[in-house]
Amino acid sequence: MIKNPSNWAGNYTYSAARIHQPETVEQIQELVARSDKLKALGTRHSFNDIADSPGDLVSLEHLDQIRALDRERRTVTVEAGVRYGRLAGWLHNEGYALHNLASLPHISVAGACATATHGSGDKHGNLATAVSALEIVTADGELVFLSREKEGEQFRGAVVGLGGLGVVTKLTLDISPTFEMRQDVYENMPLAELETHLEELFSSAYSVSLFTDWKKAIFNQVWLKGHVSDSAMTKVDSQLFGATLAIKNLHPISSLSAENCTEQMGIRGPWYERLPHFRMDFTPSSGEELQSEYLVPRQRAFEALQNISQLRESIAPLLLISEIRSIAADNLWMSPCFGQDCIAIHFTWKKDWERVRNVLPRIEEQLARFNARPHWAKLFTMSPAHLQSLYEKLPDFRQLLHHYDPKDKFHNAFLDKYIFGSL
Ligand SMILES: Cc1cc2nc3c(=O)[nH]c(=O)nc-3n(C[C@H](O)[C@H](O)[C@H](O)COP(=O)(O)OP(=O)(O)OC[C@H]3O[C@@H](n4cnc5c(N)ncnc54)[C@H](O)[C@@H]3O)c2cc1C
Repeated sequence: MIKNPSNWAGNYTYSAARIHQPETVEQIQELVARSDKLKALGTRHSFNDIADSPGDLVSLEHLDQIRALDRERRTVTVEAGVRYGRLAGWLHNEGYALHNLASLPHISVAGACATATHGSGDKHGNLATAVSALEIVTADGELVFLSREKEGEQFRGAVVGLGGLGVVTKLTLDISPTFEMRQDVYENMPLAELETHLEELFSSAYSVSLFTDWKKAIFNQVWLKGHVSDSAMTKVDSQLFGATLAIKNLHPISSLSAENCTEQMGIRGPWYERLPHFRMDFTPSSGEELQSEYLVPRQRAFEALQNISQLRESIAPLLLISEIRSIAADNLWMSPCFGQDCIAIHFTWKKDWERVRNVLPRIEEQLARFNARPHWAKLFTMSPAHLQSLYEKLPDFRQLLHHYDPKDKFHNAFLDKYIFGSL
């Protein structure tokens, strides 16, 4: 048992009395059955208190095995604590791939799916959309199995569960045959280009990310990650909507060395060495950064970005980098992409919460007219009432949590405030 550690960024210290580290599902069942308050903990990469508990925490760190590969159904079943980095390399060696990855491969599959973590790509839903079945230890210590095929609607409520249904012990994920990708980076694209070319730009590759420091109304970098079999990606142009093809590998923050970044310059490589921005073998130091992210409906993204651009002078001094990505609509109740294709506007901030917390309400005010939904695991300041108004399935989600957790064992301050609260 570890006592009171903090999250990855070090900006939040868990208040839970203890962190248990069971090694078997049976141990988790016993622990849950005898606890009054408990919550599952993944790899601690969330920036807010979503993973904390007023009782104890249970880390899935030791449940990190890959349990089954079903070649016929094209699925892989994993223990909840496995990190994407390890799973991705294993899958590739077996001839398979996941549909997408987040920017960092070091996060756990269960924590990422519980918070609707995403990568980028017009045709790709967030990482939770790959889940086809869940094994969960619910409040009474019983094992519950939910699948997309059999439980339909209830399953769609459970996948982005924010840790509120219980402790997820296994997940089954959709996979596809492995593939190769290339990554090409362009520099300096004017924001104004998106007014007429947003659709074209985001659909021009398997996964597209735009980076800006908001010092000017310019995207400093555009990263295109292309499937090598895409005919559009066999040859790249030297110009892209006003941006110029880079002639060396770049870090999203141009002043930093690219040595920890995944290979660029069109060099082919397996999907899992191109989809994340950072290399698997690079262990990021615990973060001198904070993060916020807002997801807006794709068709209004240019307007939303223009509104953010008006705050450039307030944002830029606090910012390390901002990233813009696209995510396909899904039907998972608590996903920010529920029912709508989204553009995600992400901010990696300097670690200065006092100043960041003052700028977030201004960003949220600018984005309110687009019904921007915040990333569950990042920092935001909007009121619970406003956040709740953004999720039409919230009443059903509350009922689902109550069904599996009638005595609120898995509640914490975050869930009490944003899911059940009324302030
Ligand atoms: C450097 C960095 C880069 C990032 N990049 C991206 C990105 O590219 N895209 C993106 O969308 N997000 C990104 N994030 C955010 C990150 O994906 C989320 O914070 C995610 O929740 C991390 O998973 P975790 O395992 O660390 O979860 P934790 O922070 O440990 O937990 C998050 C939530 O998941 C629940 N949970 C965890 N395990 C279980 C389980 N077994 N059963 C039930 N509930 C569980 C917890 O109770 C909690 O509610 C990034 C974060 C960092 C620090």
